[in-house]
Amino acid sequence: MIELKNVNKSFGSKKVINNLDLVIPDGQILAIVGPSGGGKTTLLRTLAGLETTDSGTFLLDGEPFDPTSSKEQEQVVGVVFQDFQLFPHLSVLDNITIGPRLVLKQDKETYTNKAQHLASLLGIEELLSNYPYQLSGGQKQRLAIARAMAMNPKVLAYDEPTSALDPALRQQVASLILELKADGVTQIVVTHDLVFAEEIGDHVLKVEPIK
Ligand code: ATP
Repeated sequence: MIELKNVNKSFGSKKVINNLDLVIPDGQILAIVGPSGGGKTTLLRTLAGLETTDSGTFLLDGEPFDPTSSKEQEQVVGVVFQDFQLFPHLSVLDNITIGPRLVLKQDKETYTNKAQHLASLLGIEELLSNYPYQLSGGQKQRLAIARAMAMNPKVLAYDEPTSALDPALRQQVASLILELKADGVTQIVVTHDLVFAEEIGDHVLKVEPIK
């Protein structure tokens, strides 16, 4: 379980996160919803350690942790970015294995087996030798999820996973997130789509811009 206590974040004089308390129970989906500028991406980046906070406590199973700590081996929150941020010059397999290989320093057998397992979990096992430009948008998203999961995060977080998708693809993303939930993955979904948030979230956190 991840808990945030009294977390605050400002950019200069602009307060973006104000005394936030949050609990993310294991295996559940937290949807974070709110208008543009409400601080959703900032909260996600803070959880992922890409942004510092001004004050507040982060707990993992009751133990304090620092998301910005450089111990990537203990990555708590892995993020699937809206634009996926795939490596265009690397194959699907190498996109998945580059973190485990270079950062986690796993041996080849370990990272290859894990990549194959994740690729079949996400239905991209036939595409391992392809390159990102050869993938559809939905396949790229699945690759981005596999790549994030390869780092063994405790929580998988998505930034606007359905923005700019047609209704059929939106439904596929919902199904995928719910499949991962059935596999026990704890997830955070940042979205401006309240209907989507209520459809998939066990909990829905509404964030508003702070006046
Ligand atoms: P959107 O739905 O448009 O992505 P959001 O809810 O994700 O919005 P954030 O991107 O978290 O909102 O931004 C919240 C506020 O913080 C905005 O007013 C934004 O201008 C400001 N902000 C975000 N990042 C920075 C930064 N690096 N420096 C200064 N201000 C920032």
